[in-house]
Amino acid sequence: MSLTKKHIKFIQKQLQQAGKNPGPVDGVFGKKTRQALLAAGMNPGLSNKRIMAQYIQALAKQHAIEYGKDDAYWGPQTEYAFDVLYDKLELDRAEQLVWRPEELQEQETNPNHWPHQTPESVLREYYGDVGEHQTLLELPYPHKLAWNTRQIVQRYSCHEKVHDSLSRILNKVLSAYGIDGIKQLRLDLWGGCLNVRKMRGGSRYSMHSWGIAVDYDPDHNQYKWGRDRAAFARPEYNEWWRCWESEGWVSLGRTRNFDWMHIQAAKL
Ligand SMILES: [Zn+2]
Repeated sequence: MSLTKKHIKFIQKQLQQAGKNPGPVDGVFGKKTRQALLAAGMNPGLSNKRIMAQYIQALAKQHAIEYGKDDAYWGPQTEYAFDVLYDKLELDRAEQLVWRPEELQEQETNPNHWPHQTPESVLREYYGDVGEHQTLLELPYPHKLAWNTRQIVQRYSCHEKVHDSLSRILNKVLSAYGIDGIKQLRLDLWGGCLNVRKMRGGSRYSMHSWGIAVDYDPDHNQYKWGRDRAAFARPEYNEWWRCWESEGWVSLGRTRNFDWMHIQAAKL
């Protein structure tokens, strides 16, 4: 994988915005860009390519974007993190400023006092060990398995601390949309909840490992899709999101504009 002018320009722009002086934002990696990276705390023992990888990984960490290991190698995970960062910080900047600013306040709603997803020690203090304290949630309307829609799901396993909240949310969804609306908007296509696993290419556990994250309609809300493609970004789903956000749940799509299928009971 190689670094192009686009990558370098993006890095220079971020350095400039952080008050380091990378020289002109021209996509050419020179002495000043390297010095600015060092000023931003990067490791002086690294080659130019690796120091840029280290910087992208640090930026990804700051923005809670998954990037794999802190290894300062420009591999597929880092490339992926770059794409997400680029979309988030470059392409959508203007749009983000005007995009549903009233949601910002809702993001802070946290009536159930969900903990932050990092550090993991705090999350474990609240939820315990991965895969433990699970209970069955009886669904107020039947779900279908997203990858096999002939299979009906009447209940699923979730953490006992999120059980009541999930139940309230799904009941609200039912009264807001009715069963026909739910089917029409595919709000019954369930992509899983409890699943003990590490994050994409990373060393940390996914929020699914505690049964505190749920995926819905993964086919129409794919991991890398932004709001230009994800179904859940459309206005007919605003009420769906209000149901979740009023209980303090966090949509990665609404807050980070990727992984729109995913909703979790942990703050970012
Ligand atoms: Zn998920």
